[in-house]
Amino acid sequence: MKHSIFFKVFGGFVLIIVALTALFLFFSFRATRAFYLDSLASNLEKLGSSLKFSVMPFIDRDEFEELDVFVKRFGMDIETRITIIDPDGVVLADSEEDPRTMVNHRFRPEIAEAFAGTTGRSLRFSNTVKANMLYVGLPLTKGEQIIGVLRVSLFVRDINKLLASMRSDILPFFILVTLVSLLGAFLISRSLSEPIKELSAASSQVASGNFGTQVYLKNRDELGLLAKSFNHMTGQIENLISELTGQKEELKSIISSIDEGIITLDTDGKILLSNPSFQDIIQSENVDGKFYWEVVRKPDFNEFIKTTRDEKKNNSQEIEFGERTLLCSAAFLSSREELVVTFYDLTKIKEVERIKKDFIVNVSHELRTPLTAIKGYVETLSEDIDEGGKHYMKIIERNTDRLINIVNDLLTLSGVEEKEIDPEFEDVNLQKVTENVMKIFEQSIAAKNLSLIFNIEKDLPSIKGDTFKLEQMFINLVDNAVKYTDEGSIGVELKREDGKVIAVIQDTGIGIPQKDIKRIFERFYVVDKSRSRSQGGTGLGLSIVKHIARLHSGNVQVESTEGQGTKVTIEFPL
Ligand code: ADP
Repeated sequence: MKHSIFFKVFGGFVLIIVALTALFLFFSFRATRAFYLDSLASNLEKLGSSLKFSVMPFIDRDEFEELDVFVKRFGMDIETRITIIDPDGVVLADSEEDPRTMVNHRFRPEIAEAFAGTTGRSLRFSNTVKANMLYVGLPLTKGEQIIGVLRVSLFVRDINKLLASMRSDILPFFILVTLVSLLGAFLISRSLSEPIKELSAASSQVASGNFGTQVYLKNRDELGLLAKSFNHMTGQIENLISELTGQKEELKSIISSIDEGIITLDTDGKILLSNPSFQDIIQSENVDGKFYWEVVRKPDFNEFIKTTRDEKKNNSQEIEFGERTLLCSAAFLSSREELVVTFYDLTKIKEVERIKKDFIVNVSHELRTPLTAIKGYVETLSEDIDEGGKHYMKIIERNTDRLINIVNDLLTLSGVEEKEIDPEFEDVNLQKVTENVMKIFEQSIAAKNLSLIFNIEKDLPSIKGDTFKLEQMFINLVDNAVKYTDEGSIGVELKREDGKVIAVIQDTGIGIPQKDIKRIFERFYVVDKSRSRSQGGTGLGLSIVKHIARLHSGNVQVESTEGQGTKVTIEFPL
C-alpha cells in the first residue's frame, strides 16, 4: 500500500513540516547569530571608542611597554583581546601575546579599513591565538592624521556557546511543535484517505457484480456528496440490471418456446445464442460459442450466410437438412454486424404441396382419357342428331372442350411449377419461337380483322431455356391478346436492353381494371367469368406464364388501361 492516498498525503505533510522546521531553524539561527555578532561588534566598537582615550596618552609619550602592560591587564579584566598597531602595521601592544613576536598586521581587513578612516569589522580565524575571533578596528587619530589602530576582539567561541545554549532552549519546543504538526497531519491524512478507501472498496464490489453496494460516510464535504451520488448510481444500476435480466429471461423463454430454430451469429460466425428448436434441427446440444460451420455442416447454408454477410442485407433461402426442408431467413443487424437466422420447417407444407400436385396430375390424367372419348362421341353423334338436339350437343361439346382445356392447363402448370433451373437448358432463339407461335394465331387474327405488328431486333442473342415451355408461354400470351381484343392490333416485340432480352406482347383490347392486375397471375383468377368462359379461358394461362418465366429467371410485368389495351413485358437475363 505504498501508493495509497494516505501515504501520499501524510508523506507530503511530513516532507513539508520537516522542510519548514529545518528552514525555520536554519534561518532563525542564522539571523540570531548575525544579530548577536552585530550587537557584539557594536559593543566592541563602543568599548574601543572609550578605550581610545586611555591608550592615546601612552602613544603620545611613546611608552609602548607600559601600553602593553596596560592592555594586558585591562584586557584580562574585561575578557577582551586588545591590540594596538602603528601606521606601519607593527603591533605595539597586545593583551594576549608578546607584541614583539607578532607579524605585521597592516593588511588585516579590519585594520586596513581602520587606516582608510572607517571602523573595520572582521570575523575570522586568528593564527596568533588559534581561534575564531570577531575583530573591530578603530582608527587612532591626532587631528586629521591616523597615528595607529586600536583593535578590540572577542573569541567567537563564546558566541557559539551562547548560540548552543539558545539552541538547546529552542529545540525541544520545535520538536514538540513538529510532533504535534505530524500528529495533525496524520489525522487529516487519515480523515481524507479513509472515505476514499471505503469508496474504492465499494467500487470494487460493484465491479465484481455486487450492484447493491452502498457507502455510508459522515463527511459533509465533497466526499459526502460523492458517496451520496455513488449510492444513487448503484441503486440505478441495480434497477437497470434487474430490468435487463428480467427482459433477458423473458426473451430467452420466448425464444426457447417458439417452434422455429433461431441462432444469432457474431461477426466471426460464432453462435452467440441458440434455441432448443435449432438444437433439435442439427441434433446437437451445447452449440453456443461454437462456429456455425462446426455445427451446421451444409455447404448451401455456409454459402447463404456468406452471401448475407457480404451483401449486408436480409436474405432467405430454402435449404435441405436431410429429410427436412427449412426456410432459412437471415436478418443483418447493421449496428452490431450480427446475424439473426431463423429456420422455418417447410417439410409438412412441401409434403402437402406435393400430395396436392400429385393429386391434380393424377386426376387430370384420369380425366383426360374419358374426356377425349366423350369429345369423340359427341362429334360423331352431332352428325346424326336432328336440329332440336344439335343445340344441346353444342353445349355438351363446349363444356367438354372447356374441361379438356382445364385438364391440359393443369397438367402444363404442374409440369412448370418446379422452381429449379434445368441444367439441361438449350440455346433458344426467341425470334423463331415467336414466329412459330404467330403462325398458330394467323387465322384467328385474320378472322377478327386485327393487324399484326411484328418488331424483332436484328442479331438478337439466344437465351438458355426450354423451347417447348417458352413456346407455351408465348402461346398463352398471344392467345390472351387475341381473345380480349376486338379491334385494332396485336404487337409482338423482341429487343436487347441492359444485358437482357425483352419480349413485349401488346394489344389494343379491353384492358384489365387496375384493381385486378395484381391478381391475374393467381390460379383460376379471371376478371370477367362469362367472357373468359365464352372464349374457352381457364384462368390458368397467366399462372403458367409466370411459372415458365420464373423457370428462366425471367420477370413478368403487366401494364394495362381499361378500354385501351394491355402490355405484357417479360425480361430474360442473358
Ligand atoms: P384466361 O384463361 O381466363 O385467359 P389467364 O390466366 O390467361 O386466364 O388470364 C387471367 C385473366 O386476366 C383473364 O381472365 C382476363 O380477364 C385477364 N387478361 C389476361 N390477358 C389479358 C389481355 N391481354 N387483355 C385483357 N384481359 C386480359
